[in-house]
Amino acid sequence: MAEEDIFDKIISGEIPAYKVYEDDDVLAFLDLSQATPGHTLMVPKQHVDSIFDYDDALAEKVLTKIPKVARAIKASDDAIIGMNILMNNGEPAGQSVFHSHIHFIPRYADDDLNLPAPSTEHPVDEQTYNERAEKIRKQF
Ligand code: AMP
Repeated sequence: MAEEDIFDKIISGEIPAYKVYEDDDVLAFLDLSQATPGHTLMVPKQHVDSIFDYDDALAEKVLTKIPKVARAIKASDDAIIGMNILMNNGEPAGQSVFHSHIHFIPRYADDDLNLPAPSTEHPVDEQTYNERAEKIRKQF
């Protein structure tokens, strides 16, 4: 069996966390680095490295919980007026803990958090759009 990572240790109770929700499939707890107040991580209890390793059954167990966790966080503070929900998959995407996790980052008026937004500065010609879309379509 692969060596336990930090989130496996939180799930097993070996190390503590500020837990906010738990069921048979997932655990949600505060991120130690609070990008904004209430920044929470949700992890599958079954170890998978990243989104690329979920089968349909695991995706259903885990990803369907996203709205419920998001609503609870939002309901916890009237000042929360929005939320970024994101997942870093792979080192180039900024993943630092290789146990899949979803970030819930509450947004507040004037919270000064600057998350990188997808750039709109790389338009391409119509043929290139078509080629790129077709390349992906063929994988399903
Ligand atoms: P990522 O960069 O998407 O892999 O995010 C990993 C996140 O895990 C970071 O935001 C860390 O602050 C957070 N983190 C690392 N160790 C712990 C821990 N023991 N408890 C809570 N959050 C943690």
